[in-house]
Amino acid sequence: MNVPLAELDGDEMARILWAQIKAELLEPFVELKTEYYDLSIVNRDTTGDTVTTAAADAIRRLGVGVKCATITANEERRAEYGLSALHPSPNATIRAVLDGTVFRSPIYIPSIPAAIPAWKKPIVIGRHAYGDVYKSVEMRAEAGSKVELCAVDASGNETRIEVAHMKSSGVVLAMHNFDDSIRDFARCCFRCAIDKKLPVWFAAKDTISKVYDGRFKELFAEVYESEFKTLCAEAGVSYFYTLIDDAVARAVKSGGGFLWACKNYDGDVMSDMVASASGSLALMTSVLVSPSGAFEYEAAHGTIQRHYYRRLKGEPTSTNPLALLFAWTGALSKRGALDSTAPLVQFAAALETAALETVAAGSVTADLAATGQKALTSEEFIAEIKRRLKAQYQ
Ligand code: NAP
Ligand code: MG
Repeated sequence: MNVPLAELDGDEMARILWAQIKAELLEPFVELKTEYYDLSIVNRDTTGDTVTTAAADAIRRLGVGVKCATITANEERRAEYGLSALHPSPNATIRAVLDGTVFRSPIYIPSIPAAIPAWKKPIVIGRHAYGDVYKSVEMRAEAGSKVELCAVDASGNETRIEVAHMKSSGVVLAMHNFDDSIRDFARCCFRCAIDKKLPVWFAAKDTISKVYDGRFKELFAEVYESEFKTLCAEAGVSYFYTLIDDAVARAVKSGGGFLWACKNYDGDVMSDMVASASGSLALMTSVLVSPSGAFEYEAAHGTIQRHYYRRLKGEPTSTNPLALLFAWTGALSKRGALDSTAPLVQFAAALETAALETVAAGSVTADLAATGQKALTSEEFIAEIKRRLKAQYQ
């Protein structure tokens, strides 16, 4: 490694697996260079959450970060850890700094049957992380009310349209998005698709929502035509727009192997569908791609609290470290690619292969064990991966 990456440590069972992965599978093989940020709930509290912002800045500066799962503070956690404040979710803080798109992709293992058997290759979800119903205002309206939408421009001119004349009491919602955010979303998706050599699908409902979804369709096409058409052609990447219902129907019948750019809500729904149809939460990777060119790798799951409490009681735990491991290999591989450090890229690939071969050979943690199949503890599972990795490195 020539250039460091930002390492964001986390909480509970995920933190324990994090340390084991580093000690057993990374440090014996790589001279790791990291800028370490302790994002454990206690340290976030002690530092007044400045550690989270500092870590996000480091990802931006270094271009690559890897993050462990972290507790999002709530009242229960305040009591449990004696917190002085309820700071926002670290992921929300980091996303606000990096302003990105979240890509989620299942780790595909042929021996783990997908609930949708036609899916032979992973479907990558690219979820727009800003706006729409997640940044909306809503209210109830009385019967007889006239509901209007009104925009006042910088000179004070008003544009009004009637939303509804309420025949009975009911509900009203207004949401928005920004052209700049939609353009950045499109750019992130095309960059990721070129990186992974995957065709891009984008879907919305512009037949019904002619202005709102129509704008998404228009800007996606504009970004593709003006910035990415040549780059995509060189990488063999195609772009396909269709209606969201058509995309769902096609996705289920497809063989997988494409990047599905989803509006915020569609991405929320479709990433859970893809995760559960592909096997286990522990087989879902997640990377935040910032329009500034920075990448943050993490697992899609949380801190696996229930397993952690069992471990604290001294019980053996069979928790799957694969998503955390793939966060590391994703980050190391990206670091190597950005710095032209081929051995680092090769090591990341070798480690992924060793992990996948371990599962394929029937050595699995409890979440992947079929009925009657022996489940290894997390330590035994990591030792099995290490044995295979060593064999490749001799
Ligand atoms: P979780 O960590 O996602 O785990 C939920 C359940 O999913 C586990 O109890 C376990 O099921 C299964 N699971 C998840 N990861 C697994 C793995 N690697 N191996 C085996 N099984 C796995 O959610 P949680 O325990 O409800 O949440 C704990 C904390 O995580 C919360 O404080 C939340 O704020 C935080 N969180 C953080 C992030 C993040 O940092 N990105 C994301 C989500 C949640 P079984 O118990 O049935 O075995
Ligand atoms: Mg969700």
